[in-house]
Amino acid sequence: MKVFKFGGASVKDADSVRNMCSIIKTYINDPLVVIVSAMGKTTNALEHLLSLTMEEQDSSKAFDKIRTFHLAIASDLGLSSDEKLNLELAEIFEQLENGLNEFSSSMGYDYMYDQTVSLGEVLCTKIISAHLTNEGITNTWLDARKVLRTDDLHRQAKVDWGASQAMIKSHVNQIEEGIVLTQGFIGSNSDFKSTTLGREGSDFSAAIFATSLNAESVTIWKDVPGVLNADPKKFDKTKLYKRLPYKEAAEMTYYGASVIHPKTIKPLAQKGIPLYVRSFQNPDNEGTVIEESIVPNLAPAIIHKDKQTVMSFKISDFSFINEHHIHLIFEHIKRLNLTINLMQNSAISFTICMDDNPKKREQLRTALIEEFLIYYNEGLEMITVKNYNQKTINQLMTDKEIIIEQRSRNNFQMVYKIG
Ligand code: ASP
Ligand code: MG
Repeated sequence: MKVFKFGGASVKDADSVRNMCSIIKTYINDPLVVIVSAMGKTTNALEHLLSLTMEEQDSSKAFDKIRTFHLAIASDLGLSSDEKLNLELAEIFEQLENGLNEFSSSMGYDYMYDQTVSLGEVLCTKIISAHLTNEGITNTWLDARKVLRTDDLHRQAKVDWGASQAMIKSHVNQIEEGIVLTQGFIGSNSDFKSTTLGREGSDFSAAIFATSLNAESVTIWKDVPGVLNADPKKFDKTKLYKRLPYKEAAEMTYYGASVIHPKTIKPLAQKGIPLYVRSFQNPDNEGTVIEESIVPNLAPAIIHKDKQTVMSFKISDFSFINEHHIHLIFEHIKRLNLTINLMQNSAISFTICMDDNPKKREQLRTALIEEFLIYYNEGLEMITVKNYNQKTINQLMTDKEIIIEQRSRNNFQMVYKIG
């Protein structure tokens, strides 16, 4: 059994869907579970639709845009007269519309978000299922909400591993013929209300299905050739890793590499299931395999993060930073659920770097204003280099006003102002 995951960019229009179908055809002789996210930027569009509804603004144009977008792809795929599909799509749009009409603030934004946004994946996979059928690919459309059980933490739902694994196994094993087509990103709680796993969570869904089914591998089909040592949109001369140890890939996602969702690696590593990252534009190329391995001389991985805040807590009375101060600062960091990307201390000050978040920054500042002199700087950028060498660092440091610099044996990090 293999698990394939196709993201939004790989199903953004009819040609992309045809391309995806041709990739699937190549592997049709293997038992296959295909996990797909919403088409193109549909998740953003649904988020926008919901915010218009909440603000009691006219949302009819935003609604029609989503509807037209999907119907146009279906029509372009020659599915306009597919009665079954037409009915299914009409039903989903009705559900979307009714849900939004019934919205009341007492339901809570996060709950409503999941009921609305999850439909992007449902719409997408319904169209794809009809297209695969048309192309002669036997497939079973599986509702991920039926088998992926989570808690009630809407928008960041935690997976109930035991229940999900049992249900995924029993449902998938019942399907005797053809491929299984299901949705990434979505699940449901014990009341069968839709939940979502957090933005870009479809990779994680692929890992959940793969571990439940003891799959032989997971392949994430992307618009990049594989895992590169830097984001090609931000850096030129990037290098492709042919092979990466799990640990290396997991740490890259921790530092902000967006190529794979951070939660994806751990469950796969625990079961020793290899993860392939390959290009849907060049499906003959091998891409990257992430697996248990020792890879000597890995190229430095450069991970860039923007929108960073550096905040310093300074002691004003000539005493020094001690455990008491650090304890106090972290008590509030924990209370506010903040994630620290980097920290540093000197004799009289303690400095942290975190993602820009003016609201929480103010809450933190207010909580500690009696104890410290507090300075902060927002809109900064951060670069982490794993497995660095001096040449890479020299290049990266050129023409930057560096605010914090830190290095260990393997990692180099700096926070700087954009010039
Ligand atoms: N469609 C969801 C999103 O855009 C999930 C995913 O793409 O993985 O965040
Ligand atoms: Mg996506």
